[in-house]
Amino acid sequence: MTHDNASVKLADLLFPDTKNTPSGGDTAYYETLYPPRNLPAGAAVTRLGPSPTGFIHLGNLYTAFMNKKLADETGGIFILRIEDTDRKREVTGAVETLISSLAYFGVTFDEGVTYDADSDRISESGSYGPYYQSARRDIYRSYVRKLILEGKAYPCFLTEDEINEIRTRQEREKRTPGIYGEWAKYRNLSCEEYAKRIEAGQNYVVRFKAEAESADTIEIVDGIRGKLTMPANVMDVVLLKSDGLPTYHFAHAVDDHLMRTTHVIRGEEWLSSLPIHVALFRALGFELPIYCHSTVLMKMDDGKKRKLSKRKDPELSLEYYRSDGYHPKAILEYLLTVINSNFEEWRAENPDAPIDTFEMTTEKMSVSGILFDLEKLRDVSKEVLVKIPATELADFVIHWAAMYKNEAHGALSADRDRLARILDIGRDGDKPRKDLSHARQIFDFISYFYDEFFEIRESYPAEVSDGDVPLLLQGYIDSYEPTDDRDVWFEKIRTLATENGYAAKPKDFKKEPDRYKGHVGHVSSVIRVALVGRASSPDLYEIQRILGAEKVRSRIQAAIRSK
Ligand code: GLU
Repeated sequence: MTHDNASVKLADLLFPDTKNTPSGGDTAYYETLYPPRNLPAGAAVTRLGPSPTGFIHLGNLYTAFMNKKLADETGGIFILRIEDTDRKREVTGAVETLISSLAYFGVTFDEGVTYDADSDRISESGSYGPYYQSARRDIYRSYVRKLILEGKAYPCFLTEDEINEIRTRQEREKRTPGIYGEWAKYRNLSCEEYAKRIEAGQNYVVRFKAEAESADTIEIVDGIRGKLTMPANVMDVVLLKSDGLPTYHFAHAVDDHLMRTTHVIRGEEWLSSLPIHVALFRALGFELPIYCHSTVLMKMDDGKKRKLSKRKDPELSLEYYRSDGYHPKAILEYLLTVINSNFEEWRAENPDAPIDTFEMTTEKMSVSGILFDLEKLRDVSKEVLVKIPATELADFVIHWAAMYKNEAHGALSADRDRLARILDIGRDGDKPRKDLSHARQIFDFISYFYDEFFEIRESYPAEVSDGDVPLLLQGYIDSYEPTDDRDVWFEKIRTLATENGYAAKPKDFKKEPDRYKGHVGHVSSVIRVALVGRASSPDLYEIQRILGAEKVRSRIQAAIRSK
């Protein structure tokens, strides 16, 4: 395409730098450098484009997971691109944290920015980079240059004060805020006039010259939401900021085109910018990707649904789940239950299938706000953990303690097989116990197995008098024989109960409450509190076998002494 001299002069004035780059400022160079990908038909190229702000939340994981799953299912590519054009918001170490947090939850990338925790090194892999937006400055500038040459963009010299004034007037007159129509006062200057101002050193940004009229609409099919009709973009949005870096909108169009992204799966908060993006893709002559706008995560608060908030809800942060020791498998299982409405049905039919055999479909995704529910997550987690072999679970708990419960790490890791036996109590048989949900809770449940964490937390049952407690405990220890089988052991407790005025069966006590002080359950409770410090626990017989005879005796004796 030939351009008139005036616009070439303007472009040269605006972008003297791009001339000396390998592309010479010519976008055709990039089109060849990043050719369409050679992938089988139907393979999805997806990406995650986080800003390195240091806060990684459940929404990021949720979006990342959907992108990854789609790429994996179709034999495509999942890219990590760091969107760091807003240098003010950048936090050091954010990229490392981001990559390791996502990796913890099983979300890894095929291409883009990588981080190796062992060597603490960040690098990039793939031939569609650089994958840091800040390193793509020349690319963006070449494409803005192209729009300038084609008369689709212009330098705008509005000062901050002028923009504020416009905003105030628009508010007062109840007009749509933004730079468009009559407010876009630099839109139609001649190239010579632009050049004069730039040569005079005036500050500027480059704005898009919106083509649509205010009544125009666009139609677009969203992968999750179906057909959408939206007002076309009439805003002269900023493409290049005064620091020479692009805005999110512009970088998105250029990057997703050049990285040959096929599906843009992102949060609902970007839906309102879609008309801008469609206008930019069209002006640049790029084919549109398939947009999939997922829904926001909500929670119930005081009977009302509201968006999860960074300020109010610690559970929005991914760190929350790591520090409480949720197993990544449980989190992913839960995410799938909220992502796809048919997942739970699939799970019921395929109880043991790994989740990557479930086929996620964008059409089955919710559009009306996902209710995030910690209780439900814990329930899902219990189902997931019960299927994880005890030795694996033991490793997981030990690993968690190393990071988040250091004072218990020594005790837990000293005997991994014993920990596995502890975790396995009551997990076999037709009705395995499903009460373990996350490492912090697990540790709390089992801490009494470790002397340094053992404490009497609960009181003896009210039915047993203070005087009876030591008597019963002494009686128990006198007849205690570690080799007794379960029946013999329990018979001895029954005898102990009846000899001391307690009913042999709860129902006998219920029938004649005046005849007995209590029943055998109360007697067992006394033993339980002395041994584990709490009124309820899994199977006491099993617990004693793991504790060992010596510890059983010493704990009972200590309980007698303290009465
Ligand atoms: N940088 C944007 C963010 O931080 C990415 C949005 C997108 O996926 O297009 O959310």
